[in-house]
Amino acid sequence: MVLDNQTQNKTATGEKKAKLNVGVPRALYYYKFFPFWHEMLTRMGCDIVLSPPTNKKILEMGATFSSSELCVPVKLYFGHILWLLENKPNLDYIFVPRYVSLNKYHYFCPKFLALPDTVRNTVKPKIPVLEWEINAKKRANIESAIILGRKIGIEKEEAGKAYIYAINRFKQFQNLQRKGVLFHDAMHRMYPRLVKKKRKMRNKSGDEEIDKNYPITILVLGHPYNTYDPLINLNLAERLEKYHVNVIMLEQLPEETFKKRVTINRHFHNYWNMEEELLQGARHFLLDAKDEIDGVIFLISFACGPDSLIQELIMRDFKKMKIPFLDLILDEHSGESGMVTRIESFIDMIRRKKYRDLIETK
Ligand code: SF4
Repeated sequence: MVLDNQTQNKTATGEKKAKLNVGVPRALYYYKFFPFWHEMLTRMGCDIVLSPPTNKKILEMGATFSSSELCVPVKLYFGHILWLLENKPNLDYIFVPRYVSLNKYHYFCPKFLALPDTVRNTVKPKIPVLEWEINAKKRANIESAIILGRKIGIEKEEAGKAYIYAINRFKQFQNLQRKGVLFHDAMHRMYPRLVKKKRKMRNKSGDEEIDKNYPITILVLGHPYNTYDPLINLNLAERLEKYHVNVIMLEQLPEETFKKRVTINRHFHNYWNMEEELLQGARHFLLDAKDEIDGVIFLISFACGPDSLIQELIMRDFKKMKIPFLDLILDEHSGESGMVTRIESFIDMIRRKKYRDLIETK
């Protein structure tokens, strides 16, 4: 293992200890849990090295490397791993979590359950994989943190403290999101060194005045790696904001929204973790906050089994309530112009319907 002797920190006992450089792919649950990973690993004496925001080269590397049957978020994950291997060969580890379950009812999608194995056996990285298993059905998360700490030579007590510190910092991050700060901006506020500020997109349409005077609100549903990776969703949030659309994402909803399980019917229960959050978010608007949104955009990964089922159920309910619904299927071949045209027509249709009398008399 290559250790950079220049970067040293002190342990709780005061002795000098070399810092480990740990690479984190900016993909999949980076878009949900990165602040937590960052705080915990940093407290355990690691330096975090992030791969860059997804770019065309990373997408191409991931798509070329992966089997065509995989969903695009996993292809991107491989792209980011390959980028780290090529550009940061001196890393001590690449962090690859194995998310199994966060509670006794649900499982993560099998791609997450097998992620460290898939990376080891397909990419065969020269840099060791630092695996962290989160499985609430098997052990408390703090115990998982202690196991992780042991792998990198951190004492039990220190690892436990790092975990608790990370939980508290992660809550601060989630509170920012609940106040309406979207993921990227919240990340920039907490980690300006790692995440640069984004430039706003400019509205070049001739309808700027109409857009500004007649705002609408759209709920964007989807897995966080689809809703927040700007390359794969063609900058959806910024694009909507450019047209004066208020964007609501799952992470902005009150904590209580996610406490009670959704009952689909007597025979059918959902067992997927992320899909449960989508159902809970949809339920919030269908039952309690219907008037707070004018439409829904659902981002689905091509070849995603859980999405294809849950999206259909959610779409039917919104259609019953007469709330406009647009689904966009994402893959590495998503054509920008076709997708942008569909988004623009959707928001134009909603705005004209909502403000019909006002806009037509202009
Ligand atoms: S839930 Fe769907 S999109 Fe996410 S990793 Fe699994 S298959 Fe891919």
